[in-house]
Amino acid sequence: MKKGKKLYEGKAKIIYASNDKNLVIQHFKDDATAFNNQKKDIIEGKGILNNRISEHILTQLSNVGIKNHLVKRLNMREQLVKLVEIIPIEFVVRNIATGSLTKRLGIEDGTVLEYPLIEYCLKNDELGDPLVSKEHIYAFNWMSVMELDWIDEQIRRINDFLQGMFRGVGIKLVDFKVEFGRFEADGKREIMLADEISPDTCRLWDMRTDKKLDKDRFRNNLGNLVEAYQEVAIRLDILHEQSNIRPLTYPKPKAVKIKKK
Ligand code: UDP
Repeated sequence: MKKGKKLYEGKAKIIYASNDKNLVIQHFKDDATAFNNQKKDIIEGKGILNNRISEHILTQLSNVGIKNHLVKRLNMREQLVKLVEIIPIEFVVRNIATGSLTKRLGIEDGTVLEYPLIEYCLKNDELGDPLVSKEHIYAFNWMSVMELDWIDEQIRRINDFLQGMFRGVGIKLVDFKVEFGRFEADGKREIMLADEISPDTCRLWDMRTDKKLDKDRFRNNLGNLVEAYQEVAIRLDILHEQSNIRPLTYPKPKAVKIKKK
């Protein structure tokens, strides 16, 4: 597959053209951003891990009939994906209250929700991705009633599947964000899951200790982000203990001065 020109550069990914008009190459960068781009850094190895983890999750979802844009992983940082027109809504799914939900509504952090909550946010960085209602979505023609009903159903299936998958490896799926796109080829139009599902877009807590294994390590300056993402990949059996995504760096031993008596 030949890599063509850059079509789009986002905060964590770049999209390149390919030699097939219906497919593009999705490149995972090491850039980390939070709080609407106010906090930025480059975290070596993050892109490689997200590429692998998202490939694994989207492949598993495909296997249970959830259509998505992934065609195949090409290399350490790139995937071949279907060219979709992204629907301008971020779908946030919550199983446990934390983050913006607790701040907005004063719900106690860690409250287990009796029923998964789906929230819709307009994809607009300048406006800070504001929360919108279904009525806004219909009023401004971002989606039809049929499309949104179908996506909601897909999201509930995705949530059930992912919760089980993570639970099986001792991880709580607290919340996550997904995006959908419209794909058109050979006169056929369909909606499918797109973008990525990775520790950048999910909150993942260790089941026993509630240790954060996701981007909150960056947002809240907890450190060891790559190590946490690596732990997720190892638990999902994508990576093995020995794999070297990033050579582990150990602090240099300090020179010890021996005092003369
Ligand atoms: N999320 C995301 N991209 C965004 C906003 C949210 O991937 O632009 C994910 C985030 O990682 C978390 C979930 O959506 O898993 C819910 O995020 P929340 O609204 O609590 O975000 P916060 O404002 O706390 O970052």
